[in-house]
Order: sequence, then C-alpha cells, then structure tokens
Amino acid sequence: MILLDGKQTSAKIKEEIATQVSVMKQHNKRAPHLAAVLVGTNGASMTYVGAKVKACQLVGFESTLIELPEETSEDELLNQIQQLNNNPEIDGFIVQLPLPKHIDEQNVLMAVDPDKDVDGFHPMNVGRLTLDLPTFISATPFGIMELLERYEIPTSGKHVVVIGRSHIVGRPMSILMSQKRPAGNATVTIAHSRTTNLAALTKEADIVIAALGIPEFLTADMVKKDAVVIDVGITRVPDDSKKRGYRIAGDVDFESVSRKASHITPVPGGVGPMTIAMLLKNTLLACERKRP
Ligand code: NAD
Repeated sequence: MILLDGKQTSAKIKEEIATQVSVMKQHNKRAPHLAAVLVGTNGASMTYVGAKVKACQLVGFESTLIELPEETSEDELLNQIQQLNNNPEIDGFIVQLPLPKHIDEQNVLMAVDPDKDVDGFHPMNVGRLTLDLPTFISATPFGIMELLERYEIPTSGKHVVVIGRSHIVGRPMSILMSQKRPAGNATVTIAHSRTTNLAALTKEADIVIAALGIPEFLTADMVKKDAVVIDVGITRVPDDSKKRGYRIAGDVDFESVSRKASHITPVPGGVGPMTIAMLLKNTLLACERKRP
C-alpha cells in the first residue's frame, strides 16, 4: 500500500510557489496578496483561516485577515466584499464558510468578483469549470487532482465512484475526473444520500473518493482489492483521551481499508493540507492574471 502523502506533497507545492514569489520579488513585483474574511468565532473556521494565513506567510505572500463579529449583517458583509473587490492591492480573497444563519451564503458568494474568487465558488467560475475553460478550481477538488497527478495514478478509462454531491467537493470532483485532462478521462459515478446499494458500486470502483462527512463510513468490505481510496472527510469526534477533547476522523475506516487499497490518503495529512496549497496556487494564478 502506498500512502498518498498530502503533507509532503503540499510542502513541495508550497516550496515551488515560494520560489516563484522570490523570482517575482527579484523583478520588483509585489507578492501575491490573499485576504480572508471570517465572520463569528466558529472553532473549526478559526483553525482553517489561521492555517491559511500561516501558509501565506510561509510562501512569502501578503495576507489580510478580516474578522467580523457574529452579528454582522448581510449588508455589512456585502459592503466589505465590495471593498475587497475594488481594492487593487488584493489579488484574491475568500469568505470562510459556514456563515452565521442570518446571512444568505449564496448572496455573499455571488458578490465576490469572479477574478478574485480564489475559492472558485462563484457561479461564473463553476460554469467555466463545467465547460473546461480557464477558471479557479475550488481548492479541495483541485488538491485531489494534483495528488492523483503527482503520484501518477492512472485514471483514464478507470471507474471512479465519488460519494457526495456537494457544490464544493463531490460535484466538481465528478466533473473534473470525467474531463479530458491530467487525472481525468475517467468514467464517473456520483453517489449521494439517496443512492441505493452503494457498496455494489464502490466494490466495482478503481478509485473511490469519499466526501460525505460520516466518520469511518467506507469499510474494507466496500472496496475492491488494490483500489485507490481518497478520503476527504474531516469530522471532529469527541475523544476524552485527547487534550483538546476530540479527534479528527475521515470518512474511511483507514485501519481496514489501508490493508486492501493500493493507494490511500490518511486523515489528517491527506487531502486537508493539499486544499491549503491549492488555495495558494489559485492566489498566485489570480495575481499572474492581473499583473502578467
Ligand atoms: P456536505 O454535507 O455538503 O455533503 C455531503 C454529501 O454526502 C451530500 O451530497 C450527501 O448527499 C452525501 N451523503 C450523505 N450521507 C450519505 C450516505 N449515507 N451515502 C452516500 N452519500 C451520502 O459535505 P461536504 O462539504 O462535501 O464535505 C464532506 C466532508 O468533507 C466533510 O467531512 C467535510 O468536513 C470534509 N471536507 C474536507 C475538506 C478538506 O480540505 N479535506 C474540504 C471540504 C470538506
């Protein structure tokens, strides 16, 4: 079994980005600048945003963190987004999800300038992805594609089962892998909560991508021998033996599946770190498009 090491691969990608940034600086160009908007004090969101800002520092990007209180109104947030859209110093920005319940997430995502939408959530960018046009591919599917490519996993003509149809993971993943592209050309089945007899599908799959958010859902009896297994899930499971009171669990029962799979991503250290690296890559891309 080969571990698809997202931690190591993302470190390599960050090194590559850092090299590009130092070349930009040598040519007296400004470093790419990523802004992140965080509304409220959701623990996981604060961790994710913190990691993104730290990653910016590591590769030499400029970063701005805008922290707004939980009670921020939708109008106030939209106003903040307009300011970021109009600020020539900002190359790209993200609005950390989820947002408080009183704010319409879709309104907010639609307000982001598609040219600065480094999360790739704007309908314009999702449409461009669907048509295989230049776009910002959302970071998690982008990271999985990169991991498959760098580990030279054959995908052409292979059967992929994606479990989950969310806008940010399952759906774009299924589209990307069906396209004519590196790590693409696969025959893709997309499964979801209404899929019947899921195990019959996964047992036939050469590659299984689990993105449903149910800890240890995919078990060894659901995969065929030598399958490639990608675990997207991140769930905080209460665990008193840990100092912080929880452990991070993936959607795959790593213990049993790793004994049957040819390649597998661990959790943590698999897809998660790749997501941050690809956000940086999108920011670099936004910067290059704006200031070639
Ligand atoms: P979501 O809740 O938006 O979507 C879950 C999907 O799973 C839905 O489409 C649903 O139909 C499907 N599903 C639910 N139960 C099912 C079942 N029993 N059988 C088959 N399908 C079922 O979740 P999401 O935003 O796509 O995230 C999925 C998981 O990935 C979560 O654990 C999330 O934390 C994690 N995630 C990780 C990263 C990362 O960087 N590694 C990024 C995004 C999300």
